[in-house]
Amino acid sequence: KSGFVAIIGRPNVGKSTFMNRVIGEKIAIMSDKPQTTRNKISGVLTEKDAQMIFIDTPGIHKPKHKLGDYMVNVAENTLNEVDAIMFMINAEEGYGRGDQFILDRLQKINQPVFLIVNKIDKVHPDQLLPLIEEYRSKLDFEEIVPISALEGNNVDHLLGVLKSHL
Ligand code: GDP
Ligand code: MG
Repeated sequence: KSGFVAIIGRPNVGKSTFMNRVIGEKIAIMSDKPQTTRNKISGVLTEKDAQMIFIDTPGIHKPKHKLGDYMVNVAENTLNEVDAIMFMINAEEGYGRGDQFILDRLQKINQPVFLIVNKIDKVHPDQLLPLIEEYRSKLDFEEIVPISALEGNNVDHLLGVLKSHL
């Protein structure tokens, strides 16, 4: 199995930390996916039974000028090409306007979206449920996976979930 996974989320939610944790070997990409996707590859995870190609989509934020509009379009094209989308949030911060902008974009996309609640090491478990309910009311997520990218909690489970959708 192999496939593309886009990671999106506000700055500082932990996208790079997650990537650093899971990315092993970098390999040459043998894919018929369009060039636009290949240009943004930020890491490849190769396991015995699967290969996941992670793509950072930094352009998906509220544009401040014309170039910003262009970046949002590039990011949206990427989201339409991938096999799965990880929408990462910070368990400590909760719902914010930056999230709403991303959720509005995700409404229009048919790919499965996974809500990744990161930094669970920083919150009490009781705080997670109301947070998750709030996001769930805004988008129909394929699955919701709480993790700590920093400490590694539940990261293997997340990779298994993503793998099952490739
Ligand atoms: P990005 O902007 O989404 O790429 O976020 P980064 O990966 O750069 O992380 C931003 C900050 O959050 C850094 O100081 C990380 O060490 C911290 N961070 C990321 N993931 C976690 C986590 O699971 N738990 C905790 N406590 N801190 C985290
Ligand atoms: Mg980053």
